[in-house]
Amino acid sequence: MASYKWILYGTQDEGTIAKITLNRPERRNAQHEPLLREVNDAFLKAEADPNVRVVILTGAGPSFSSGHDLGSPEAIEWREQHPRKPGAEARYRHELEVFLGFSRRWRDLTKITIAQVQGYCVAAGLMLAWPCDLIIAAEDAKFGDPVPVRLGLPGVEYFGHPWEFGARKAKELLLLGDTIDAKKAEQIGMVNKVVPVDKLEEETLAIARRVAKLDTSAALWVKQAVNVTQDMQGMWNAMQTVLWIHNLGHAHHGELTGGKQASSANMREGKVSEWTRKADVAAGRQAGI
Ligand code: ZN
Repeated sequence: MASYKWILYGTQDEGTIAKITLNRPERRNAQHEPLLREVNDAFLKAEADPNVRVVILTGAGPSFSSGHDLGSPEAIEWREQHPRKPGAEARYRHELEVFLGFSRRWRDLTKITIAQVQGYCVAAGLMLAWPCDLIIAAEDAKFGDPVPVRLGLPGVEYFGHPWEFGARKAKELLLLGDTIDAKKAEQIGMVNKVVPVDKLEEETLAIARRVAKLDTSAALWVKQAVNVTQDMQGMWNAMQTVLWIHNLGHAHHGELTGGKQASSANMREGKVSEWTRKADVAAGRQAGI
């Protein structure tokens, strides 16, 4: 058992199944950088372990993950200890590595990965579940990305939305900031199976055991065949391009506010619209939104 602070990691079934558990239940497994770095380390550990065939990713407590940690004392302390240079370049480098980069790396692991999701899986929560090969959801699971309506950005940094929700539903969920429940997510093909809350762990493990019995080469060929098809349809390039749009959004609001958006207090709901309205008024235009 490795020594982690923000996650749990262990193996079972003679080492063939690894489990990574996000372990900040009191914060609904909100993601600050040290947690993400531990998740990345654990995924790479599983990848490097020749016994591991399947990796389960789950979250302790009532919710899988509530998204980026925008303002807990631990997140603020980390940011103070690891100050970024000002400017769009440093933010972009950070997001390319820790957000889009980590999620893409996990999606491309050669081991089969399964997300075990309960409660809220919203905003950056999606960046943990979507890279997994299979998603098993409890009946109480809810999926959505309120980032555009809250922060004035196109969505979270791993822009899987059109690929996972479908283009039309992606626009609806991003424009309105609504969530869909597990049943709807299964209907649109985003979730593989929906199970009762109290059966989630057991059902996920049962599926992991079926996959772990497969010939490892067959599992690998299936995974890579599907992934390369998505990549050739443009998924990789689209995600890279959207990260540039996303960072244009950060830069836009940074310009309007003199960089205040970096403060969690200014990231609360409605602030971005307020800034945009003020900029419209300052420019002598009718408030448009
Ligand atoms: Zn961002």
